[in-house]
Amino acid sequence: MTDLDMRTPGALADAERWTAHNYHPLPVVIADAEGAWVTDVDGRRYLDFLAGYSALNFGHRHPGLIAAAHAQLDRLTLTSRAFVHDRFAEFCHRLADLCGKELVLPMNTGAEAVETGIKVARKWGYQVKGVPDGQAEIIVAADNFHGRTTTIISFSTDPDARNDFGPYTPGFRIVPYGDSDALAAAITPNTVAVLLEPIQGEAGVLVPPAGYLAGVRQLCTDNNVLFIADEIQSGLGRTGKTFAIEHEGVVPDLYLLGKALGGGIVPVSAVAADRDVLGVLKPGEHGSTFGGNPLACAVGTEVVKLLETGEFQQRSAELGARLHEGLHALVGNGVLAVRGRGLWAGVDIDPALMTGRQAVERLAAHGVLAKDTHGSTIRLAPPLVVTPADLDHALAQLAAIL
Ligand SMILES: *Cc1c(COP(=O)(O)O)cnc(C)c1O
Repeated sequence: MTDLDMRTPGALADAERWTAHNYHPLPVVIADAEGAWVTDVDGRRYLDFLAGYSALNFGHRHPGLIAAAHAQLDRLTLTSRAFVHDRFAEFCHRLADLCGKELVLPMNTGAEAVETGIKVARKWGYQVKGVPDGQAEIIVAADNFHGRTTTIISFSTDPDARNDFGPYTPGFRIVPYGDSDALAAAITPNTVAVLLEPIQGEAGVLVPPAGYLAGVRQLCTDNNVLFIADEIQSGLGRTGKTFAIEHEGVVPDLYLLGKALGGGIVPVSAVAADRDVLGVLKPGEHGSTFGGNPLACAVGTEVVKLLETGEFQQRSAELGARLHEGLHALVGNGVLAVRGRGLWAGVDIDPALMTGRQAVERLAAHGVLAKDTHGSTIRLAPPLVVTPADLDHALAQLAAIL
């Protein structure tokens, strides 16, 4: 095929011409997909090792999820929360049970779940803990990623995410990730919550030191502070368990969920917590036009049903062991270090060889789509439906580009 027969260059130029340049995508124009594989507009196939930043944990167009969406499209798609619809309670009930919590508050995007967690924690602080009005503090970790709203980027330490978007929302204290002494020192009588990713995804799939999350749990309990776990990327099977925080046997006060909760079909996010926390919200105090809509609930219910089987968590644990074994074999051969859990890995490429961006460009040329993060780190997060053969294929391509 010559360049003239190809649709990719024109499609890339059009996207460049008509859109804000707030992303720097790989030069691949995807047209359709199934499972762990995508096909571009010129018919080339790629293994998807990003999986929509874990929004596609169940793969592209999982048949059960697509069937649930189709059935709901033919019946009812939107009511707003001014009325109740017949898919609402089942979704919230099943998700609450999956989380072991009493209540669920559905939203749409991950950032909205984070915003909801912040608002709930502040209100709980004033109404239950007795923090003086306007004084609530939330402790967060350096190098966090919790989304892109003005409040959330106010406590980001990434200059790209934050610079020139001020004035910033006050009320956040930033401590180093993985250091419970620093966290203990930051707690004051006005601290209402600690907000953390159990594994920091955007930062390079950073797994905290053993005992850290349990230590944070203890500090929160001792100081009457809420522990908010942002499991938007780490949760719902990605690490080999339903929630990444389970690896340390820790139960947070609030779970923030998103990404895979929408089955790769619609944006669905949620906050799950007990009544003594989520119960602080009264009618009119928080909401969303699309939050908990019938289509979202139909897909979300099917997602929870898939997770109830435990099959995806088990796949992630087993195939994750295979992935990490394969990646560790590359350490010393162009790879400096590998981190992660389950089907989730941060791979530090030797910067003397190439940047992370160059690595993912070369991987794409070899038919594997992944994403770099800061510097020379790339992250791998295939759909949990990936086969062992696909996994081995991707590992071979990574070895080939090094
Ligand atoms: C993606 C992500 C978010 C934000 O989700 P959006 O749907 O993009 O708003 C928040 N927290 C974590 C850990 C994420 O990975």
